[in-house]
Amino acid sequence: MRTMNTAFDNSYARLPEKFHVPVVPDAAAAPALLAWNRPLAEEIGLRLPQEDEQTLARYFSGSEPLPGSQPIALAYAGHQFGGFSPQLGDGRAALIGEIVTPGGSRVDLQLKGSGATPFSRGGDGKSWLGPVLREYILSEAMHRLGVPTTRALAAVATGETVYRETPLPGAVFTRVAASHLRIGSFQYFAARRDVEALRVLADYAIRRHYPEALDAESPYETLFKQVMKRQAELIARWMSIGFIHGVMNTDNSAISGETIDYGPAAFLDEFSAGKVFSSIDSQGRYAYGNQPAIGQWNLARFAETLLHLEVPVEVLEAALSEYPRLYQTAWLDLMRRKLGIFEAGPDDETLVDQWLSHLEANELDYTLSFRALSGQLEAAGGPRFAEVEVRWRERVRAQTLPVEEIARRMDAVNPLFIPRNHRVEEAIEHAVSGDYGPFEALIRVLAGPFATQPGYEYLAEAPEPHQRVQRTFCGT
Ligand code: AMP
Ligand code: MG
Repeated sequence: MRTMNTAFDNSYARLPEKFHVPVVPDAAAAPALLAWNRPLAEEIGLRLPQEDEQTLARYFSGSEPLPGSQPIALAYAGHQFGGFSPQLGDGRAALIGEIVTPGGSRVDLQLKGSGATPFSRGGDGKSWLGPVLREYILSEAMHRLGVPTTRALAAVATGETVYRETPLPGAVFTRVAASHLRIGSFQYFAARRDVEALRVLADYAIRRHYPEALDAESPYETLFKQVMKRQAELIARWMSIGFIHGVMNTDNSAISGETIDYGPAAFLDEFSAGKVFSSIDSQGRYAYGNQPAIGQWNLARFAETLLHLEVPVEVLEAALSEYPRLYQTAWLDLMRRKLGIFEAGPDDETLVDQWLSHLEANELDYTLSFRALSGQLEAAGGPRFAEVEVRWRERVRAQTLPVEEIARRMDAVNPLFIPRNHRVEEAIEHAVSGDYGPFEALIRVLAGPFATQPGYEYLAEAPEPHQRVQRTFCGT
């Protein structure tokens, strides 16, 4: 007999029944491996009985259960665009289990698009190729850009047709996450006034993500503050790289502080604070510049659930009032470094604001404008430079650090490559017609977003007017 050492340890499945529903992923008609993240599999210590492409395709389409896995759909609620749904849940996802990595952290493995669950309502629980490749590209790019995020382990074509507005090729995505606990998980039990379940959930979240809170005087208050801190830092990172999540519903807001659920997510090309890509965000609720405030709104919803655990309202209100300062500090710290300021000064925030206004007024590309700065440190002043550039150069050069060192550090925080919306769309279009070349090129280049990569300069470029992506879609 072969030894099965996948080493699943499914702690969430051991929580009471009302937390989840057992599911059986659908077998795919003709599973074919599209992408396999071997370095990630090694990093998390995933050991498989067999690793040939056909076996991987069967495992990561849900066609054959991984030894030790125990697929479940999680129950959660959530505010979607401000309106509360007391029951959402995993309608097209199956948590297949958890493994403890060699580094000692616990991670979830989840299949997305492997078929209907009791939470699917009218949906088919499937996914087409587009959202699978999108999440693969975006989540791996975010990781390399230094942003906490769920990761992409595998993408598998099912060989089936999924019907959206048109018939499309079906696929399954496998992600790795620190957990799938969301603000919406807490809201699910709060909405039911199920204090006991809420306590089980909060204790679970603490043990899994914030064990230091166990020793705190008030563990649930500490839990709240820790989640808030991670969210503030996360959103500051999004803002610093021009990332727009697009669906910051409370069910897409992870307790771990990871970016989760890449639906219509997109990156800024030209800088515009009010930028919206998502086709369903007609009011601009989740516009680029609204993200920090929405983060606080979501945390307020989280705080409300903790009232049931007798955390005093004044305590939660006082904690929440610290959010703007936490966010602002994290953001300014990142923006200073992007501008080459490594010795903080009192007027830096004004300079950052002026620089961003300059980008916005001139419709300049966010990513490339920052990237170009390191090469402009040595330039002489003069009339061809905007006033803010002259001021910026003086400020940066007044530091004690040598200019070459400043330039080197700037290039390590200002990426050359981001997953440009038009390149992501192009990769999907080609993949649908069977050509995975552009997808593979993107994956390869985005693994090193800060380095120049000869032959791939075109992937760094901003879109020409006719290449511009105007709208992105959830893809459900
Ligand atoms: P999301 O857009 O991933 O945040 O999903 C919002 C809710 O809709 C979740 O409860 C999903 O499980 C559900 N959902 C999204 N797409 C589908 C689908 N194709 N079939 C069934 N449920 C879905
Ligand atoms: Mg979601």
